[in-house]
Amino acid sequence: MEKTEIEELKKSLFLDQKETAAKASEENFAAADEFCKGYKKFLNSAKTEREAVTEALKQAKKAGFKKFSREEKYAAGDKVYFNNRGKALCLAVIGTEKVEAGTRLSIAHVDSPRLDLKPNPLYENDGLAYFKTHYYGGIKKYQWTTIPLALHGRVCLKNGRYVDICVGEKEDEPRFCITDLLPHLSAEQSSRKLSEAITGEGLNILIGSLPLGGDSGADMVKLNIMKILNDSYGIKEEDFLSAELEAVPAEKAYDIGFDRSMIGAYGHDDRVCAYPALRAIIEMEEAPKYTAVTVLTDKEETGSDGNTGLQSAYMKNFICDLAKMQGGKGRIALSNSKCLSADVNAAYDPNYPEVYEKRNSCVLGGGVCITKYTGARGKGGTSDASAEFMAECRTIFDESNVLWQTGELGKVDIGGGGTVAKYVANLDADVVDVGVPVLSMHAPFEIVSKLDVYMAYRAFSEFFKK
Ligand code: MN
Ligand code: MN
Repeated sequence: MEKTEIEELKKSLFLDQKETAAKASEENFAAADEFCKGYKKFLNSAKTEREAVTEALKQAKKAGFKKFSREEKYAAGDKVYFNNRGKALCLAVIGTEKVEAGTRLSIAHVDSPRLDLKPNPLYENDGLAYFKTHYYGGIKKYQWTTIPLALHGRVCLKNGRYVDICVGEKEDEPRFCITDLLPHLSAEQSSRKLSEAITGEGLNILIGSLPLGGDSGADMVKLNIMKILNDSYGIKEEDFLSAELEAVPAEKAYDIGFDRSMIGAYGHDDRVCAYPALRAIIEMEEAPKYTAVTVLTDKEETGSDGNTGLQSAYMKNFICDLAKMQGGKGRIALSNSKCLSADVNAAYDPNYPEVYEKRNSCVLGGGVCITKYTGARGKGGTSDASAEFMAECRTIFDESNVLWQTGELGKVDIGGGGTVAKYVANLDADVVDVGVPVLSMHAPFEIVSKLDVYMAYRAFSEFFKK
């Protein structure tokens, strides 16, 4: 065979994701950079699940979404939302086909790993005041020491009132911090396994050092803190019992790299899919054929349990209510539904090649990642998308020039993970994971590529149109 013939054959038969990615990057970077301006704003204004729902709702209402009512009849093109307890949100644009014909779902989660305050968090130890915490989601504990932390959340009072607290985000506000040992005295700590160097009970946040009125008596630093909290928010110590306060990294989102091609921020997992899924439904210009639904869910990082997590009936009920409004059956609507489980995947990290299988890993800047299955070991705990649905998705993406790639979460038997996909599959719908590759996933500061964020947005938009 001639050399050119061989080259042509290679081109037509081999998968060359690198070349496609380089070309798409050249063509789309300006648009990606522009889209990510809105994403960075979203990151900075929505660091918790509650704040993400509040911000998403604000954007949706501005775009004409109305509160869903079971009594009302909706027509094609109508935009409705269902707010689940302020921590999860369903947004729908009614399709021209009946809801019973199936919906097109994009589901992302808006909770991220963090440090929750314990129900009885405040104490003083040897002249310093602290909050006890209980970590939420999978974290590497050592990463959460010696970084500035902010406190976000809600305190519910006995009389039905509540106060929202957010301290440590504005320039002039104080931050909080978990201390670590100096290297000079760390010989014993450094000899421990990385996972044991910092313990869960060791994640105590430093919040004060000044005794009230210069009094050296017991608990005077704690009393001073409680007085400040009472003056600022009208709360007493017992009000912590009915509070959800979350310590999160105080950093803002930044462009990363001289070329500004990436974004570093807290909580990309999974607001990096939540924001594109939100914008995809908000910016829908005409009524889709099938009812489009974006779901921003809570509690994914702890297994999707709880009434705001996807194992609860809220999303199923919402779709059933939509079907019923047209005299249809919810279970038929669910069976006919197709879903992109919009969650992140681990980007191949050249610093740690040993845990990845390069041929089957997604890379930063390679586009949105389709993950056929998650799980661990012999595919335990995954819904494993069908070949048919994989083909459908890649056709949609290829036809609309969405840059995409595929990837597994690391090497076989090295670890594993899961998403909400399996809970959607349990409703008898077709589902596959589609999301953005992330470096340093679950760290206080995660990295994504702007191009991939934009391609996630394009992927969800095109999926809704089909
Ligand atoms: Mn996730
Ligand atoms: Mn996660």
